[in-house]
Amino acid sequence: AAFTSLTDRLSQAFKHLRSKGKLSESDIDGTIREIRRALLDADVSLDVVRSFTSRIRERALGAEVSQALNPAQQVVSIVNEELTKILGAGVDRPLNFAKKPPTVIMLAGLQGAGKTTLAGKLGYWLRDTGHTPLLVAADLQRPNAVTQLQVVGARAEVPVFAPEPGVQAESSDVVEPGKATGDPVKVARDSIAFAQDKLYDTVIIDTAGRLGVDQELMQQAQNIRNAVNPNEILFVIDAMIGQDAVQTAKAFDEGVDFTGVVLSKLDGDARGGAALSVASVTGKPILFASTGEGLKDFEVFHPDRMASRILDMGDVLTLIEQAQRTFDEQEAREAAAKMQEGSFGLDDFLSQLQQVRKLGSMKSLLGMIPGMAQHRKELEQFDEHEVDRTEAIIHSMTPQERREPNIINGSRRARIAYGSGTTVSAVNGLLQRFEQAAKMMKRMSNGSRSMPGMAGMP
Ligand code: GDP
Repeated sequence: AAFTSLTDRLSQAFKHLRSKGKLSESDIDGTIREIRRALLDADVSLDVVRSFTSRIRERALGAEVSQALNPAQQVVSIVNEELTKILGAGVDRPLNFAKKPPTVIMLAGLQGAGKTTLAGKLGYWLRDTGHTPLLVAADLQRPNAVTQLQVVGARAEVPVFAPEPGVQAESSDVVEPGKATGDPVKVARDSIAFAQDKLYDTVIIDTAGRLGVDQELMQQAQNIRNAVNPNEILFVIDAMIGQDAVQTAKAFDEGVDFTGVVLSKLDGDARGGAALSVASVTGKPILFASTGEGLKDFEVFHPDRMASRILDMGDVLTLIEQAQRTFDEQEAREAAAKMQEGSFGLDDFLSQLQQVRKLGSMKSLLGMIPGMAQHRKELEQFDEHEVDRTEAIIHSMTPQERREPNIINGSRRARIAYGSGTTVSAVNGLLQRFEQAAKMMKRMSNGSRSMPGMAGMP
């Protein structure tokens, strides 16, 4: 993910402090030098790095003697607080909904920033939280932008308001604004009337971007803004763009005066400095983060949680919230009861597995567990397809086999392997893990205190 190397560098910096009983000024300066270099290498803007490190230095030197924390922990806790501030603590807030629907959300940003992808995610998330969103294709400059939004909308099961087909039949890469046949301002304006008429409560307007900031791009965004008077103008910024982030953010801030930021591509390998500079440079809150190409790779942004993820302190709160949104409580209770009485079958296992999968990719889930950065190698080797194979294997069993796995003899194993497109040894492996897990569950319900391992994990 974006902060991998920053996380490593920071924990390296703290490691040097860990052995010290009391910190001298030169210990602190040494650590701060390491932090400064780590941030600069992560492409955080120089101004931000300067004020960040000087605040940390001041606070670390003046740190009151704490009974509860050792010196290294105190420094980490100061860094955590300051990082949280940089990420926008104090200005952070939830999405602003209009008192009288529809709420109008306009997306702005450079071409390729991730606006169209975000429109789908936002639509999906809004639908999931009880809203009735409408996506609006007001990017008439890029050929296929309308079609792309329609594809995204179909996937998210959110309707798309688009100009009549044929208006953007150009085939060159970037259509000059003068040549674009549709009028994005009119599309945006018409979409609001459409939403009012059809009772959509949120309108998400996807606008055109350019490869670089330019006057015409800004003018068009301003025209759309003035026509629809949005409740939110979200500036979408690619976390991978490095040092240009600050200039781009400033230009859009002056140009359209956005109300909030969305960080996209936080899953990428880039250094993520954009993420760390944009809130403090513009003073605008980061509302969401986009973490992949899938519809669910999206989360509400919380400065404190992101800071603790960067410092490898985990983000258990987000994990719990995602779980709460996904899990069916009744079903979970029944599963627990079955485990206790020892009647938990492969069917139940499959449905648990499917619930967990609804949460998002295993990698992103595991990444939210504190201390996981140290196990990055194992995490990287984690094969999402393993879960697919497990599902396929269980699907190839008969209902009776799922209830009573002990009847699965050699010939049944061969049949299941064939049916699931896997191998007999994969089937054996799954059955073995399942048996172990079943034994463990029995032991636990019998009151044994032995700690369970991660049995059942592929
Ligand atoms: P737009 O020009 O601003 O509308 O950008 P798009 O939504 O078309 O995104 C540009 C490219 O980035 C597409 O290939 C997307 O699939 C990809 N993309 C968007 N958001 C993310 C993200 O959060 N993570 C990753 N890995 N790719 C993304």
